[in-house]
Parts: sequence; structure tokens; C-alpha cells
Amino acid sequence: MHIPFLDLKNQPPELRNDIRSAVDQVLADCNFILGKPVADFESAFAAYCDCKYGIGVASGLDALKLILRAMEIGPGDEVITVSHTFIATALAISSVGAAPVLVEVDPATFTMNPQAFEAAITVRTKAVMPVHLYGQTVAMEPILAIARRHGLKVIEDACQAHGACCNGRKAGSAGDAAAFSFYPGKNLGAYGDGGAVTTSDTVLADRIRTLRNYGSAKKYYHDELGENSRLDTLQAAVLGVKLNGLDQGNAARRAAAALYTEQLRGAGDIITPAVRPGSEHVFHLYVVQTGRRDALQKYLLEQGVECLIHYPVPVHLQKAYASKGWKAGAFPLTEQLAGRILSLPIFPGITGEQIEYVCNAIRAFYRN
Ligand SMILES: *Cc1c(COP(=O)(O)O)cnc(C)c1O
Repeated sequence: MHIPFLDLKNQPPELRNDIRSAVDQVLADCNFILGKPVADFESAFAAYCDCKYGIGVASGLDALKLILRAMEIGPGDEVITVSHTFIATALAISSVGAAPVLVEVDPATFTMNPQAFEAAITVRTKAVMPVHLYGQTVAMEPILAIARRHGLKVIEDACQAHGACCNGRKAGSAGDAAAFSFYPGKNLGAYGDGGAVTTSDTVLADRIRTLRNYGSAKKYYHDELGENSRLDTLQAAVLGVKLNGLDQGNAARRAAAALYTEQLRGAGDIITPAVRPGSEHVFHLYVVQTGRRDALQKYLLEQGVECLIHYPVPVHLQKAYASKGWKAGAFPLTEQLAGRILSLPIFPGITGEQIEYVCNAIRAFYRN
């Protein structure tokens, strides 16, 4: 058997036909930039996330960057985030000239440790950027309470958590603003790059809408130095259809995760992902921990099972950040995780038979 890490070809046929009609409509109208399909998707996505506003942008990275710019965070400012994340989280902070300040995660849930966040606050701190990593939201209450006490903005990196919930609160609705990515492999994926900001702050929403479109609210009148970071209209049309299947896809991922967790009980030294009480995990990734990670990954590949590591090198040890002088040993929990984590295949169409095959292969590995 060959089990891909992710199978994007496995889409419900009804969805495929609806996407084709939505794309055909854009081709017929030739409204390739902004227009109704983008506005329609923005309001549908905002409503889905329990937010007042959605602003479509070119990518998840741009969503984070534009939020920071709209909050006037820049040189001399610090933004606290985690080292255990995809590089884009930190890059967004660096790209506006602010300094990323990294902290540890809780190794059971892979999300920001609130005490570590509070301990990292200085007079220069302007915002905190918690990451809902792998599809589980950060426990937002303690983060929000600390941020409020210190007058900090809260920017959620929700790029892996479309539809996730924490105590009934949707990812993307807890902080001042949130960034989503529609990279094809994400739980809500476009047919190319795309992203969105969600917020309920009217002033912030207007500012981001202007910034993403050359700093212009009225054509050829430019109020500030904006950028070209619009959600492509064809992608918005695709996303508008796919949004209707998001809850179903997330439910399928949750069922797959539950099956993995059940079948991996007692398998070697495997630690299955922890789901916090009150949290509705959407399993963008299903990440286990083991002390024999590299050997297990190699063995599974020999058995036809593709697994990946998210992420093998923490932000503070990336070459791109060498000038920061962050040293190995600076974040021991994060570094330990980087050596132990393994993402097993998960996607909405994965079958029980495929999951059973993966779990049997894992058990066979520990018997050898
Ligand atoms: C995917 C991702 C991003 C960046 O999104 P792009 O659309 O690829 O720019 C940012 N943060 C996290 C946690 C992500 O997973």
C-alpha cells in the first residue's frame, strides 16, 4: 500500500462541479481583481469565524504583515511569539522591522506557554502572536488576560486552524485580529496562494483593506504607502464553494485522528496528540512524539507511508535568523520537540483501512 501524506485529489465530486461553475462565472465576467466574488467570500468567511470583517489578501504571511502594519508596529517594537512554528509567523514580524521575541510552547499541546509569554514582556513589547498550531487553538483566556494587563495587541496566527474552537469561541475571533492562509494544503485551501484577515475592529479592517490595495480607498487616490496583496478573484470563487465543505472536512479529520489515537494506544513510546478539554481540534496535522523518530520515519517510508516533520528546525535555529545570535539550548522544550515530532498522513478522504495500515506498520516497527 502507498499512503500519501496528503491527497488533494480526493475531493467530493459535487464540490468539484460547483467549483467549476464558480470559476466559469469569473471567466465569463472577467472581473479578475476584487469584485463580488471576493466581497462575497470575505463576508461568508467572516461570518463563519464569528467576526464582523474578513479581508482577503494574497497569503497567510501577508495577512500577518498587514495586521502588524495596520497596528503601526515597526522598528523598535517587539512582538512575542513561539519558536515552535512555521517560519512565516516570525518573518511577518521581521518584515515590518519589529523584533520577534520567541518563547517556549507547552509540549503536550504545542501551543504558547502563557507564563513564558508574560516573562518575555518588556517596555518595547507591542503585541503577542499566539499560533493555533496543527489545528488546535491556544488556550486564549490566559493569553488575553495577560495581554490586557500589559496593554498589548493580540494577533492570532490561525493559518492552521480554520474552524477550530475553544470553549465555543472560533479561532480568529478571540484576539484583535487573526491571519488565515489558504495555501492548498490547509484545511481550507485554494487552488493557489491566498489568505485572509479576520477582525471585528472597524478601523483596523478599513486600514487593512486600503493597505492591501496600494493604500487606496478610492481609485488613484493614495492615502498611504500600500502594497499589492489582494486575494485573487478566481481563488475567492473557489474558496467560496470550498467553505461550504469545511465543517465536513474538519469532522472527517477529527474522526481520522480519533481512530489513530485509539489504534496507537500502547504502541511503543508513541505519545498521541493531546486535545484540551473545551477545545475543538481540526487536525490540520496529526503529530505524534517518539524518541525513535528518525528510525520510525524511515521504516514507515519503506512501508509506503509518507510522514513529514513540522518543523525540523525551530525558528531560533534557522540560518535566516543567524544574525539574531539565538543559540542551541535557548529553548530546550522546543528543541526537544523538534527531534521527537512526526506528522502522520491525515486528510478528509483518508480511509479507516489506510489508518489501520499506518498503525499496524508503527506497531511492527516497535516489535522489531
Ligand atoms: C501556512 C502558514 C503561514 C503562512 O501562510 P502562507 O499562505 O503560506 O503565506 C503562517 N503561519 C502558519 C502557522 C502557517 O502554517
